[in-house]
Amino acid sequence: MNAIAKPRGRLFFANPGPTNIPDSVLRAVAHASIDFNDAEFFELYERCVAGVKRVLRTSQHLFFYTASGHGAWEASMANLFNTGDTLLVIETGHFSESWAKMGKALGLCIDTLPADWRRGADLAALRAKLAGDTEHRIKAVCAVHNETAAGTVLDIAAVRAAMDAAGHPALLLGDTISSLGSLPFEMDAWGVDVVVGGSQKGLMLPTGFAFTGVSEKALAAHKNSRIPKHYFDWSEMLTRRHRSFIGTVPTTLFYGLAESLRLIEEEGLEQVWARHTRLARAVRAAVKHWSGNGQGPELYCQDDTRASDSVTAILMPEGDDADALRAVCRNRFNVSLGAGLNKLAGRVFRIGHLGDLNEPMILGTLASVEMALKLNNVPHRPGGVAAAMEALTA
Ligand code: PLP
Repeated sequence: MNAIAKPRGRLFFANPGPTNIPDSVLRAVAHASIDFNDAEFFELYERCVAGVKRVLRTSQHLFFYTASGHGAWEASMANLFNTGDTLLVIETGHFSESWAKMGKALGLCIDTLPADWRRGADLAALRAKLAGDTEHRIKAVCAVHNETAAGTVLDIAAVRAAMDAAGHPALLLGDTISSLGSLPFEMDAWGVDVVVGGSQKGLMLPTGFAFTGVSEKALAAHKNSRIPKHYFDWSEMLTRRHRSFIGTVPTTLFYGLAESLRLIEEEGLEQVWARHTRLARAVRAAVKHWSGNGQGPELYCQDDTRASDSVTAILMPEGDDADALRAVCRNRFNVSLGAGLNKLAGRVFRIGHLGDLNEPMILGTLASVEMALKLNNVPHRPGGVAAAMEALTA
């Protein structure tokens, strides 16, 4: 029996996470084992802690976990609250729903600020909701900065402003899993109390560790939290030398992290953000062109001011299958696109444009999508790639 031929050339990986891992990070991760208490490793570890704080834009606390982003979500809830506490989750899409589901599983009461996934939350409704909570039942507002499933961004500074305008003392929890190191984010300046992040997106690393930035106010609230925990317990962590990790530290990932932080700082964090904006505009220009007279695929996000610069969700015309399009891209052109999640399964495909990415990688992906649209007879206006090129050279 013949083996299935492997496509030649590079897999163009346009998923919104995990993301492409730069060659120098791959080499750095391929490090021999070292004792995590060894002085050589500890020096690198301390540099990484300082570097991640610079990306978070915080001078407060940072805790790491050997987990994917879900672990950091769980840590944020288990460390701050007591069974029965009420949290307000701002609906953005699949990931706000998942966070709420986790809260319920941990015994918390979840109140949701409902929103249209295509347009994002109504901040006036948030202000009214908080102002109406005169007894301060709401202990925290949970906000997903970048909703990876919908391709929308939530203005976290505006969420903080709404809380301040209502004079509400709740904690602000922000999920930056698909925005950190890609989109502007300011933990301290925006008054975010707990920031949830992971290794495998803007930090361009393999999946394997997650972290929470924690404010002084959140650490004080933690002292009164009685939800059972041990692996995620911040108080327990503070007794350890690494002030994180109840257990073995994933040392090789930290060699990779030191390199990815070096790359980010070599480019400059603001320049990293600007590159993401440039590439995202090109993707949106292509999709808007394909939409043509309203028959073709369209941007899932219906508010341009809320379109994400790290991932674009694209809604297929009624009756056309997003997964069939993804299959052509993967099998014929060696391009991997993100699937639609939750109620968007089969209706939406996603182009991830975060992390280690440049213009030709974006154009190659867009060209493959355009060819797949043609091959699958999906109605569209040809010329989206030219529109993207125009956006990149305007
Ligand atoms: N939050 C957001 C916004 C995400 O995009 C993801 C994953 O894609 C998660 C949370 C969950 O993180 P993980 O899959 O690393 O557990």
